[in-house]
Amino acid sequence: MMYRHSWIAALIVCALTAGTHAAEPKTKTPPRGKKASIVEDGPRDYTSRNFLLHTDISADEAKELLQRLETMLTQVSKYWGKPNGQTIEMYVAKDVNSWPAGFFPPEAVDSMTTGGGLTMSQTRAMVNTLTGKKIGNIAAKSIVYAVADHGTPQHEAVHAYCHQSFGTTGPTWFAEGIAEIGHYWKDKDYSVQIHPEVLKYLQRSEPKPLAEIVDSRERTGDSWQNYAWRWALCHMLAYNPNYGDRFRPLGLQILAEQGATFQSVYGPMAPEIAFEYRFFLDHMDNGFRVDLCRWDWKTKAVGLRGSANVQSKIEAARGWQSSRLLAKEGQMYEFTATGEWSIEKEGDKLTADGDANGKGKLVGVMFDDYKLSDSFPLGTTGRWATPSDGVLFVRCDDAWNAIADNTGVITLKIKAAE
Ligand SMILES: [Zn+2]
Repeated sequence: MMYRHSWIAALIVCALTAGTHAAEPKTKTPPRGKKASIVEDGPRDYTSRNFLLHTDISADEAKELLQRLETMLTQVSKYWGKPNGQTIEMYVAKDVNSWPAGFFPPEAVDSMTTGGGLTMSQTRAMVNTLTGKKIGNIAAKSIVYAVADHGTPQHEAVHAYCHQSFGTTGPTWFAEGIAEIGHYWKDKDYSVQIHPEVLKYLQRSEPKPLAEIVDSRERTGDSWQNYAWRWALCHMLAYNPNYGDRFRPLGLQILAEQGATFQSVYGPMAPEIAFEYRFFLDHMDNGFRVDLCRWDWKTKAVGLRGSANVQSKIEAARGWQSSRLLAKEGQMYEFTATGEWSIEKEGDKLTADGDANGKGKLVGVMFDDYKLSDSFPLGTTGRWATPSDGVLFVRCDDAWNAIADNTGVITLKIKAAE
């Protein structure tokens, strides 16, 4: 067999910034010329273990950025099980005009001046000269260009790591979704922490269907809105324990170009994913935790007859949890909830009746065929007639983005009323 080596170039243009930039692209840039003369010392180089940084930010800012990038890269490479083997070279510009004219490729200038970034990658591939088919990658090098905001260098560094380590960044939904997780990444914080404009957009829009997000015709650099959907899907899949176990092998297969797709890995779980993706978007807020609000698909619910009862332990610091009751429409039930919980760290202990405003009260919702009813109050004890068939799910009433600091567990007992 004959092989040849050929360089394949790839550009990942990242449309990262939220609506503010699109609506007012120039307002954030001070008058040119003036600004350039204020910059005293221009671009400099800084290095750390994995990064070579060319930048015009201050030495202190550069040190902080490198530290943040190193910590993120450690986490990312641990997650994907492949240490970064090659220096990641990055140009991070606060003011593109303080650099020599013509210094950056024009595409990079376009991205940076509109508040985004760009990763230029080259892969040296081994190609079978008879068939023209690619056999494997033997070298990969990326150069990152990013505006000096908080998230863009982190986003682009994920692309560079993936490309240099795996020779590819995968399909658009995956490449940009995980890069956006990197964009918003904060050490030891799994809560949603996204740009306020992106948040507002996701809260107010009709959810983009999953099939459209993972469509192979999607392209990078299209719009920040599409990046928001990619982020939402990848964040949910990566951080929700119901799907996280499959996200890593899926990602590795995608990065190794082994033909795995969203459908091949998650296909059988599509109804569950669609439900939890929708649920995530319905409760989207900074501070929301997909891990704490994962849906309980496993606990078996049972119907009640005679004097039999069901019992469940309900944690204050979780979303909806199964009561184990498979309720029948029109049937009357009796319930008692014992124990205490609180809705703040070291806050007042509350019963399942909650406080004077009803916060911390035990509330319920009916789940049937992937649909939820409106929620209704329960409390410590009472009788309740179910309006429809379904499984009763319950939780401690609190703002959805503020449940992580809750403590305590109550025990809920339900039996059929006479
Ligand atoms: Zn990107």
